[in-house]
Amino acid sequence: MASLEVLITERQIQEKVSELARRISADYGDTPVLLVSVLKGSFIFLADLMRQLGPNTEVDFVQTSSYGEGTSTSGVVQIRKDLDVSIEGRHVLIVEDILDTGLTLAHLRELLGTRRPRSLKVVTLLRKPDAAQRETQAEYVGFEIPDRFVVGYGLDHAERYRNLPYVAVLHQEV
Ligand code: 5GP
Repeated sequence: MASLEVLITERQIQEKVSELARRISADYGDTPVLLVSVLKGSFIFLADLMRQLGPNTEVDFVQTSSYGEGTSTSGVVQIRKDLDVSIEGRHVLIVEDILDTGLTLAHLRELLGTRRPRSLKVVTLLRKPDAAQRETQAEYVGFEIPDRFVVGYGLDHAERYRNLPYVAVLHQEV
């Protein structure tokens, strides 16, 4: 049996997304920006965020290896689906759902950095303590959360719970 404990409400998320969108808009102004959404977990955050950004916003997707059906990282990061477009000379903003160890983001930053974007920044909705301590920095962070396994608002456990409008800690009783 599994139970859910709400950590961040739908309303708190919506307010935070608006705040992040205001900060991003203020920083980029009318400059065209390419959002690079990291599948699958960031797709709901991306959709809400993107609708609050200006008309010069485009999007593309990458997918990295995930935790599979477990709740702990394998430490191996692989690109499962690459971008469709070239990012050379473009302003790129990576859209992440959550930073845990920061390993996925570090790898992605390094990879995309070699493709010579004009700028490369990161927005993440959630960040766990481990990632907060590392050098892999995100320029825009929604919420600092405790080191617990969370689901909802795009985040899954074995592909379930992505459609919850809030973020919750998943308690798994055996
Ligand atoms: P990192 O490389 O930073 O350790 O992990 C990043 C990825 O691990 C996220 O994009 C997400 O797919 C997955 N992840 C990390 N923590 C959680 C969590 O608490 N819940 C879920 N559902 N996925 C997580």
